[in-house]
Amino acid sequence: MTISLTVDEIHRLYEKGDATPSEIVRAALDRIEESQSSLNAYLTVSRESALKRAETLDSGIRDAVRVLPLAGIPVAIKDNMCTEGVRTTCGSRILGNYIPPYTATAVKQLEAAGAIIVGKTNLDEFAMGSSTENSAYGPVRNPVNTDYVPGGSSGGSAVAVAAGHVPISLGSDTGGSIRQPASYCGIVGLKPTYGRVSRYGLVAFASSLDQIGPFARNVRDAARALSAISGRDVHDSTSAPVSAPDYLAALTGDVKGLRVGVPAECFGEGLDAEVKERVEAGIARLRERGAEVVDVSLPHSRYVVSVYYIIATAEASSNLARFDGVRYGYRTQQARTLSDMYRRTRDEGFGAEVKRRIMLGTFVLSSGYYDAYYEKAQRVRAMLVRDFDSAFEKCDVIATPTAPTPAFKLGEKSDDPLAMYLNDIYTVTINLAGLPGVSVPCGETRAGLPVGLQLIGSHFDEARLLNAACALE
Ligand code: GLN
Repeated sequence: MTISLTVDEIHRLYEKGDATPSEIVRAALDRIEESQSSLNAYLTVSRESALKRAETLDSGIRDAVRVLPLAGIPVAIKDNMCTEGVRTTCGSRILGNYIPPYTATAVKQLEAAGAIIVGKTNLDEFAMGSSTENSAYGPVRNPVNTDYVPGGSSGGSAVAVAAGHVPISLGSDTGGSIRQPASYCGIVGLKPTYGRVSRYGLVAFASSLDQIGPFARNVRDAARALSAISGRDVHDSTSAPVSAPDYLAALTGDVKGLRVGVPAECFGEGLDAEVKERVEAGIARLRERGAEVVDVSLPHSRYVVSVYYIIATAEASSNLARFDGVRYGYRTQQARTLSDMYRRTRDEGFGAEVKRRIMLGTFVLSSGYYDAYYEKAQRVRAMLVRDFDSAFEKCDVIATPTAPTPAFKLGEKSDDPLAMYLNDIYTVTINLAGLPGVSVPCGETRAGLPVGLQLIGSHFDEARLLNAACALE
């Protein structure tokens, strides 16, 4: 049995008695194991616990699908979300043996909606990267063509969905890590508004930018997953007390009169010609369906990558200070003194990209440079927020490419961090402004690589955003 099915399709099987959660979950696990040597998408596969939970759902599944939106649905979780009793590595050596004593709220919410966790997925170490080549446990490969990267940092979660293991997975997005791999793998990836989903139990990279969100094969499943994980959480003071509408009900596909803003700044230099063509064709489809396309401007776009890599690294350098060999995970065997223990633990535990970011972040926060870099970046961040405020006076959603190019080959950019960072040019702004964004597939290049179109909404306007995505799909 193949499980490249959507949630609705699996639920129909359950309703008709044509499959049980045990059968669906076993099929998912078999596929995962078959693909592991070629794709390397998982760091932990939870065969026993998944089958055990599926079994408890088997007999009541016909009734369960009526009340639980994800009843009996296998899901995969990025390995930077804590899962009680299950190893959570963040793709790092330093957390190689870390077993959390609690489960992240978003993961608990998925389970409460009936989902069954089949595994923890591979990622760039501490979610730092755009290709999933920075994992201490080896790179992930793109199922569309295994010579290519799946994007990152949530590459494993994107592959879990794209390769047909599960209909839904969770990723985290600090600067594009859900949307960019979704675009490289040809699936839907949603970053919710900052505060829409609890970050409790998500290992922090850059706390003012991080947000958990779903991958899915269609917009409907993404909407369903978002409904499950949304809402205020007493454990996360940045989760917003805003009620979540019924996202599924919002998916009418009717975009008559919807104003779609197109910022010229996102279609200029550096954009691959084929990507441009596909994205423009996607925007034209929205127009054909009754949307009104308007020009908008994001005048500070040229600063976004610099601003992001100052703020994200500053926050990361402070968040990662907690990994000192005392409280969590790995500790060096070599040390003679306490400070020697800290130094060696961090040297042996962290990979090159994480060290680069800790150094950069420490530098931009240090006395003498704070005003020149960190404070200035914060000021430009405020200007970027204002750019969006004025753009949203003229439109309801904004359309851009998700990434400037399609997927690239493994190894192609690993020695050039700056080229890697430039991949994030269309996605990081959305995190800096706290807005929701979704990447929707909009065709392929002549070489057969998927292209993603990014739609951006105003704060907490996911319902309208997802409906526009649905119309495009
Ligand atoms: N590629 C970006 C970075 O490396 C975004 C990562 C993310 O969203 N977690 O920082």
